[in-house]
Amino acid sequence: MSTLCWVRRDLRLHDHAALSKALTESETTIVFVFDHLILGKLKDKHDKRLTFIMDSLKEMEATVTAHGSSIVILHGDPVEEIPRLASELGVKTVHCNRDYEPYAKDRDTKVGKRLLAQGIAFDQSKDSVFFEKHEVLTNQGGVYKVFTPYKNKWIEAFEATGKMIPDFSCDLGHLRKFKNSKSITAFDWYGALGFVHAPSALAGGTAHAMKRLADFDPKMIDYAEARNFPATPGTSLLSVYIRHGNVSVRDLVRAGTKHRSEGAKTWLSEIIWRDFYQMILDMYPHVTKGSFKREYDRVVFPGGAPEFTSWAEGQTGYPIVDAAMRCLNQTGMMHNRLRMVVASFLCKTLLVDWKKGEHYFAEKLLDFDLAANNGGWQWSASTGCDAQPYFRIFNPYSQSEKFDPKGEFIRQWVPELAHLNAREIHKPDPLMAPGYVRPVVIYELNRKRCLELYSILKVAEE
Ligand SMILES: Cc1cc2nc3c(=O)[nH]c(=O)nc-3n(C[C@H](O)[C@H](O)[C@H](O)COP(=O)(O)OP(=O)(O)OC[C@H]3O[C@@H](n4cnc5c(N)ncnc54)[C@H](O)[C@@H]3O)c2cc1C
Repeated sequence: MSTLCWVRRDLRLHDHAALSKALTESETTIVFVFDHLILGKLKDKHDKRLTFIMDSLKEMEATVTAHGSSIVILHGDPVEEIPRLASELGVKTVHCNRDYEPYAKDRDTKVGKRLLAQGIAFDQSKDSVFFEKHEVLTNQGGVYKVFTPYKNKWIEAFEATGKMIPDFSCDLGHLRKFKNSKSITAFDWYGALGFVHAPSALAGGTAHAMKRLADFDPKMIDYAEARNFPATPGTSLLSVYIRHGNVSVRDLVRAGTKHRSEGAKTWLSEIIWRDFYQMILDMYPHVTKGSFKREYDRVVFPGGAPEFTSWAEGQTGYPIVDAAMRCLNQTGMMHNRLRMVVASFLCKTLLVDWKKGEHYFAEKLLDFDLAANNGGWQWSASTGCDAQPYFRIFNPYSQSEKFDPKGEFIRQWVPELAHLNAREIHKPDPLMAPGYVRPVVIYELNRKRCLELYSILKVAEE
């Protein structure tokens, strides 16, 4: 009897835990389902993420075709589609990699139950994180809520394995041989799904991911410092590939532990942040509905639609914020430093509920990942686990001066200010930049209002 490997956010054919297991067991068919519930929520029919997925699947299809196989592509509800296909093919096991998002966990539970009723096993593997929830616990067996001790324990656990990084190799010779008239390349899937081909600057697929990782390798040494400056490419720009699994987390850990530099240590630490937020989402799914620290749900943000729209459109009158938001709107990407700046600005300067910003990022980011996005927003809003204290409010002017000292990033995205010099550009004089919007709020004033808003929590603590 054969096996089925259901790929989701793990679009690659190497170092793949579920695929490796399936291929070792018996002849394997790979399937991908365009989930109509997920696609139905995407308002923009030019969504670049769909094209990224299509390109990743096309790359995979080219490789499996060379082995006489194909990838079954389906469209519908996976809870119906996977058990139906499994029974049609008469497989003994359906393999997939674990996903920690609440929707995915619920969906997989339902799929597993249906398969069980059909006498088919459902086998889920750890793949998208290096360590899962029960693998990094406090000495008392509890769950970490603070990053640094979690990171230390993560490293301890890694060292305890002798720094062993598994490689789930995939013998594609064991794929089921068949021809597929509705493969990702043979059939008009864009038409069938009602979407349009919309390429981004970051093309999908493992070849691009691996090239990016290789290009980043010599730069890693400078990462600890270089990662802070949006105008110069000091980070790996791998997040969209990581999100879709074009590259494995073990590839990342391998790259991050190859060097001994401070830069490599800092980069590995970011990969550990990623594991940390996946673990938090898995253990505390309430974070998708509100604050990790539930008492913070009592903070009522007065900012309304005008403030939110000015932020979303990059028209706040704060150059660094506007540059970052315009970059996001056009490219689907934003530098980490700027994500922190604009997130803080939305909730602590414009006083708009952080959940609105989280939702906007979810719609726009090519690398949107529920765990990292929610973690990043809750950190910025001070509502999360291990978040910055609420009285730490990013000053958009000093952040701009510090991290875009020459104003290069601003000049690239806010042409109204391109003529200003490095001293003038961070806080432009309206007389010198008449074409640029005036600040929608006064930072110092709203800083005080923000502290007042959050102060209700202090009262509760006393
Ligand atoms: C408000 C906010 C929202 C965010 N939303 C997302 C999101 O939706 N998807 C996403 O992947 N990251 C998110 N991040 C984290 C971070 O900004 C991006 O991972 C990073 O900018 C991606 O660029 P890079 O690949 O060049 O990262 P690098 O600096 O090269 O880091 C390597 C990888 O480590 C991981 N990583 C880095 N920083 C973090 C972090 N703080 N938390 C979790 N993982 C991290 C990512 O997978 C990243 O690709 C968010 C951060 C904030 C403050």
